[in-house]
Amino acid sequence: MTAQAEAATATQASTQPAAGKVKVATIWLDGCSGCHMSFLDMDERLVELAEKIEIVYSPFVDAKTLPSQVDVGIIEGSISNEEDEHKARLFRDRCKLLVSLGDCAVNGNVPAMRNPFKLETVYERAYLENVNVNQQIPTDGVPALLKTVRPVHGVVDVDVFIPGCPPSADTIHTILSDLIEGRTPEPIKVTRFGA
Ligand code: SF4
Repeated sequence: MTAQAEAATATQASTQPAAGKVKVATIWLDGCSGCHMSFLDMDERLVELAEKIEIVYSPFVDAKTLPSQVDVGIIEGSISNEEDEHKARLFRDRCKLLVSLGDCAVNGNVPAMRNPFKLETVYERAYLENVNVNQQIPTDGVPALLKTVRPVHGVVDVDVFIPGCPPSADTIHTILSDLIEGRTPEPIKVTRFGA
């Protein structure tokens, strides 16, 4: 997806906010955390949002267990290893609406640059050729890489796409506001680097 391309942000738009605050969960998979930083760039608007949403699971909060029922789930990053795949499926199962946030989630972006290469080549390049000390390919406690990196919708159904690297705080605010009010987000212009 190119920087100036027009992109649809939503494949469906219906969400019925739960009684009380809308429960929102976020997670980063294979990304750089920049999309979450862009979320924080909403600055004082976060205070307004806090009156309408409850962040029940996220790198932003201490809660480490994804609740069984969430209204809006937001995924940053692509699906690169078995753990990413498991977490994406868990989000899909437990979130009424699933949002792909940022180009890594939407189209694979930077993590998917390894896709033209064999997995062995990727491992050797990362852990043997580019390392001067203690060269070894890790196996203990490290989730196995998938053969290819996939966007989130390559593994589970996604309801809303927010492209950009990262999407701007304005874009995130507009779309999140629509979702928590039960509106269909309008198509947006792709934004890059917080523009
Ligand atoms: S889309 Fe860009 S900012 Fe977001 S996680 Fe990927 S590389 Fe980072």
